[in-house]
Amino acid sequence: MHTLKAEQLERLAEATMRALGSAPEEARIVATHLVQANLSGHDSHGVGMLPDYVRLVQAGLIVPNQEIVTLVDFGALLLFDARRGVGQRVMEATTAAAIERARSQGATVFGTRDCGHIGRVGHYAEQCAAAGMTGIFFVNVADHLAFQAPFGCSDARLGTNPFAIAMPGANGPAAVLDMATSAIAFGKARVARNKGVPVPEGSVIDDAGRPTTDPRMLVDERKGALMAFGQHKGSGLAVFCELLGAALTGGRTIQSEEETSGGILNSVLGIVIDNARMGDPAAIIDEVESVKDWIRASPPAPGFDKVRLPGEPELESRASRGRSGIPLDAKSVDDILGAAITAGVDPALVDATRAAYAA
Ligand code: NAD
Repeated sequence: MHTLKAEQLERLAEATMRALGSAPEEARIVATHLVQANLSGHDSHGVGMLPDYVRLVQAGLIVPNQEIVTLVDFGALLLFDARRGVGQRVMEATTAAAIERARSQGATVFGTRDCGHIGRVGHYAEQCAAAGMTGIFFVNVADHLAFQAPFGCSDARLGTNPFAIAMPGANGPAAVLDMATSAIAFGKARVARNKGVPVPEGSVIDDAGRPTTDPRMLVDERKGALMAFGQHKGSGLAVFCELLGAALTGGRTIQSEEETSGGILNSVLGIVIDNARMGDPAAIIDEVESVKDWIRASPPAPGFDKVRLPGEPELESRASRGRSGIPLDAKSVDDILGAAITAGVDPALVDATRAAYAA
């Protein structure tokens, strides 16, 4: 598969957001975030989102440069209303505010409701870890068709409601758990359908609620649903992403009586803990690294080349894609470049990107 270098994709993503009206800082934040998702191996949340962003901004469902409104400022509790603002900028800014508050309060619980798509949630957990803090995020997805069937349901009732957590380690974040609560992402079902291969057992149901490994009905007809990971336990976490992320923060929930407008709204409950207020941060990191070493000392199970901790597959991907470029299929590149033209990006940049991809 042909590749593009991270810098080329960042230039294109930044220019697309600028053409949509984002101020330079907002455009830069979105571009960096999307390309970091690609580098991390999560193409479903990388530059492939740009066609959606163009559509959503042009439909007024994501609002560039939106002012963030502070609704609650009560010691260790903060609540922000993003009002459909560009999710990556809003979440970076409100996470930074929560980190700042945790320095004086020891911890912050904060809500950021009704953001435009916030992308890879682990990014904000990593932002906390980089500040020496532990970050935990519960997120819902609304204003969008439901995709996920909670345990025991025969149809979709929730979004892919992601969850992320990170804490500081000896060299960057100690570990980053960052995941959808559905067994697989919708994008992975689409890839399986396009390749003509089955999806893993226990990841999809058909329109009668029966488990299936055939992704065609879900992808082509939007019938059936993704299953929650981990049966009733993962399903319970998905339910709490909805309840904490949106019901508690006053964000839009999936069952809103307002008609779905085909947007993507993420509402978030974040918990930020200043490790330095909990104890000696160096001693905590020592203990964290010892636990990691203990886990890594296990002989890999059959079929595994090594034991990995959460966040390590993403680090490996960043290293290899940073060297060899980001692989993109031709259709995705066409869609991204088409969206750039629709947004009004200089055709010379679009042509240069196409030429670099073909080279
Ligand atoms: P995934 O299944 O690839 O990985 C989930 C977690 O498991 C990661 O922390 C990863 O490091 C860890 N992991 C993977 N393989 C491992 C291994 N072999 N050993 C140890 N740990 C391992 O991720 P996903 O559930 O497909 O989610 C992909 C991305 O989609 C995430 O960044 C998530 O934030 C994002 N997402 C965003 C939204 C949104 O609305 N904004 C919705 C859903 C998902």
